[in-house]
Amino acid sequence: MAPRVRFAPSPSGYLHLGLARTALFNWLWARKTGGKLVLRIEDTDQERSSPESVRALVAALRWLGLDWDEGPEVGGPHGPYFQSERRSRYQAASDRLIGEGKAYRCYCSKEQLDRARAELKAGDPKAQFVYPGTCRARTDHPDLPSVVRFKAPSEGVTEFSDRVFGRISTPNKEQQDFIILRPDGFPLYNLACVVDDHEMGVTLVARGRDHIGNTPLQILLYRALDWQEPEFAHLPMILGPGGDKLSKRDGAVGVGDYRERGYPPMGVLNYLVRFGWSHGDQEIFSRQELVDKFSWERVNRSDGKFDQKKFLDVAFEQLKRPDLTPLEHYAELVQPFLLARGLSDIPLQTLHRAIETIRERARTLEDAANRLDYYFRDPPEMESAARAKFLVPAAASRLEALSKVLAHVRPWDSPQLEARFRDWLAEHQLNMKEVAQPVRVALTGRSDSPPLFDVMAVLGRERALERLNSAAVLARAG
Ligand code: GLU
Repeated sequence: MAPRVRFAPSPSGYLHLGLARTALFNWLWARKTGGKLVLRIEDTDQERSSPESVRALVAALRWLGLDWDEGPEVGGPHGPYFQSERRSRYQAASDRLIGEGKAYRCYCSKEQLDRARAELKAGDPKAQFVYPGTCRARTDHPDLPSVVRFKAPSEGVTEFSDRVFGRISTPNKEQQDFIILRPDGFPLYNLACVVDDHEMGVTLVARGRDHIGNTPLQILLYRALDWQEPEFAHLPMILGPGGDKLSKRDGAVGVGDYRERGYPPMGVLNYLVRFGWSHGDQEIFSRQELVDKFSWERVNRSDGKFDQKKFLDVAFEQLKRPDLTPLEHYAELVQPFLLARGLSDIPLQTLHRAIETIRERARTLEDAANRLDYYFRDPPEMESAARAKFLVPAAASRLEALSKVLAHVRPWDSPQLEARFRDWLAEHQLNMKEVAQPVRVALTGRSDSPPLFDVMAVLGRERALERLNSAAVLARAG
């Protein structure tokens, strides 16, 4: 049977890179095996969940190209896919457990428990407070707020076999009677997760290893409810440079942050997949290669440190290589960044040719848009230092003369332009250095650009000559 996997984020306003990595591994497995990926929104924490934070999450997943087969926006036979709309199901599971004597109502107030905890700590500050089972045998039903607690076993062990971490065995004496339902009827994570994974037919639960401690509790619930357990695969963590879990303290950690900075989606996925998976020494993968090569056998247990520079290198490599980012796709990716610069008249063919001139140097799409700006802005924005240094009176007549000479070049392409330019330099006993910078500033407004003849070829005859002449006027004025 094809696997059913799921991605179950708690919306927090943005998609954390660590969660995106988990989504990626699930997606890869579903796409590789022809299985199904379910997206479930774990929004029982009403304070943190809002329609906006769900939208941000969904938008980030869509941008990464991690689509799902069941869930918000696409529907499916196991909905609703928002936990906040599934409360009656958790209630039913809880009632069943109570009815079968496997869970009970606990009326201990927070104050009572705090007091018991404080007393314990007074005797031994290091002691771990464990709920003493005060209400376990209670038979009355006072009209008081109550939680529901699961009757955890205190003997034996709970074992499961993890696809990444192997056999994991937890002594039951470490478990306490954990809460499954709050006084307001909202479920706790472990109950909601088990009910949903069961009802949604999930066969493999792959998630961050920060949940590995929850798994024995979930297994106890599966067994108490007499439900088939799914398989589990826990994934290593993305750590910050300091060695703790990567967090906002470490800087930008949201997928959206990197989208805004102009990282391509595949650059993000390619970097994220390294956290837990590798394929020999290969560093850069296409989406299809990831799908083809992904396997659980190659998932490892080692946490990895987030490295901003490496991330940028990987993103750059994705952009640089035409086999990974074909021209048409590059153009689509960079358009929003050009629009954001106020450029709107962007002929597609010119854009394609312009991209070829900057692809080797543009490290992000934001950087690319900056390097493409002068191709689409008339007149080009002049860097004042470049203008002051190179558009000086001595350059004026050369720019004018050059414009006249180049006007006759046919066809208007880079080799012809270069040949004519070099002839002209020789005729006037000038060297390239003396002329190249004023010409560059004339064409691009900058002192750094791709090779001049490539720039001229992309600009086209009319615009290139116009820029040389306008710059001559500026140069004369000094
Ligand atoms: N909502 C949990 C989280 O975002 C899901 C954990 C799980 O996958 O079971 O961490």
